[in-house]
Amino acid sequence: MSAPKALTARGAILSGCKRLLSARHYSSSTPLLDRHLSVAIVGSGPSGMYTAKYLQSALANPKLASLPSTHSIDVIERLPTPFGLVRSGVAPDHPEVKSVEKDFREVFERNIGDSSSSSRQLGVAFRGNVEVGRDISLVELRRLYDIVVLAYGCDSDRRLGIPGENLQGVVSAREFVGWYNGHPRDVDLTEPLSELLSNPAEKSVSVIGQGNVALDCARVLAKGGEGLRSTDISAHSLPVLGGGVGKVTVLGRRGHVQGAFTIKELRELTKLSKEGHGVSFHVREDELDLGMTDSSRQELEGRLGRPKGRINKLLRAAAAVAHDPKAAKEVHLRFLLNPVEFVPDTADPTFVGSIICERTRLGGDPGKQSAVATGEYETIPTHLALTSIGYKGKALPGMGDIFNESEGVIVNQNGQIYGADESTGAGLYCSGWIKRGPSGIIGTNISDAKETVASILRDISTDVAPPHIGREQYNHGREGLDAILKERETQVVDWPGYIKIDLAEKSASNLRHEDQPREKMTRVEDMLAALRAL
Ligand code: FAD
Repeated sequence: MSAPKALTARGAILSGCKRLLSARHYSSSTPLLDRHLSVAIVGSGPSGMYTAKYLQSALANPKLASLPSTHSIDVIERLPTPFGLVRSGVAPDHPEVKSVEKDFREVFERNIGDSSSSSRQLGVAFRGNVEVGRDISLVELRRLYDIVVLAYGCDSDRRLGIPGENLQGVVSAREFVGWYNGHPRDVDLTEPLSELLSNPAEKSVSVIGQGNVALDCARVLAKGGEGLRSTDISAHSLPVLGGGVGKVTVLGRRGHVQGAFTIKELRELTKLSKEGHGVSFHVREDELDLGMTDSSRQELEGRLGRPKGRINKLLRAAAAVAHDPKAAKEVHLRFLLNPVEFVPDTADPTFVGSIICERTRLGGDPGKQSAVATGEYETIPTHLALTSIGYKGKALPGMGDIFNESEGVIVNQNGQIYGADESTGAGLYCSGWIKRGPSGIIGTNISDAKETVASILRDISTDVAPPHIGREQYNHGREGLDAILKERETQVVDWPGYIKIDLAEKSASNLRHEDQPREKMTRVEDMLAALRAL
């Protein structure tokens, strides 16, 4: 997953207009002091939650004299459940990563009451099952709030753009991950996947990509439902994955030194056999040699080369190890193979049957090596192909020029969005993947959110407020949002509502294993029904 630059050439031009726009933005002389400040954050993933956390503590800091005296922060989430990819992306066998939820829960629970709709109260409120662009528009939000922070992540896919990509059995890793993690958007994959993976021990799956998401998918496929019973993997995936897929091949067009995966995820693959999952790990010495160009050697010696050096060592050791003859399943990590075509299955040409890959070699300077075609081809039979070449952000309806379509990010500078029509309402900011692109771990969103919060504070701690603050015609913040959603009969899930869903998911009667943390509800209707029943 490469990180597209958030600030493009057009962004740089826009940033040149920053002074002008700021001056326009703060043309009112309304003092902020003694005013209530309403903030909406769109998205409750790590970036939305860290933004809420750091903004809340900054606004509550009595030492910052020129800040508003009261504030409310509303986290608006399209699902009834919070925390974004922590719930629906992080692998089920990585429970330690999900413990960050505790920190996020405190953001809501530190509140002085969420059940009241009074926007005069301090605190952070959850407004789940509310999708911006469906239940309320961005324009409406900007009229309701003083500050709107867009933290809605990246929810579409980069495409390979090769023939056969639309065949059945070519699925994005994003959807596959969402499916095994119980994202309501992806539950309907159960039927096609059961067909594609019927009798999984005899099936071959290819995962195209060289990042941690690709390695997560390979591990989940190899462990199978049986190896993941004690995790929070969704119940519908257990019978489909069964005892694990017979052969998983992870492939990428560059070499092992350029791979985007980290050593933790790689080590987990190499240890599957030792841990009793019956999976042998295969990597080819000739492909490691081929990738070890002079430029790759220099990359390993460079400032950022140390972690790559450890990966090189681990892969070399794995290539030299004899494979466990008792292991019935195999994971292969292949390098310098560029998929050029998905070939239809001979029995049913609506399905994928194999992938043609072109052997590549590396060319270019250290840090800039690219895959160069060689004209040699290899065909890899496959029953299911997962494309894991990166998530991509989408614009919200009506966003216009502030969205960079080719890079899938919002044009911004340090989280501040310039160029939106300032006369229509709130100051606009962004945070997380939709701000910087789909790269980085959960922790990366901390500094990212702090940067956005710093931009907000810099703006609101000037002694004049944005022009709309305090204007009577605006029905401010939470009160206004709740009134609109009530009128539209949107079934909003607030924090106490989510806690009911959470308790139902953790209830022992719903669990299959004593160590299983929760059984996720996977349909929005079921979540809302559970709320009404409790
Ligand atoms: P997201 O987490 O995607 O959150 C965005 C939120 O916005 C979602 O809740 C979404 O439902 C909501 N939303 C979207 N559109 C709307 C709308 N229109 N209206 C209202 N709400 C909306 N990092 C680690 O540190 N460790 C790991 O093990 C790890 N594993 C990962 C595994 C996968 C498969 C992936 C994809 C990522 C993983 N990461 C991991 C990275 C980490 O998940 C991201 O850094 C982080 O989730 C990005 O946060 P975000 O808030 O920008 O986006």
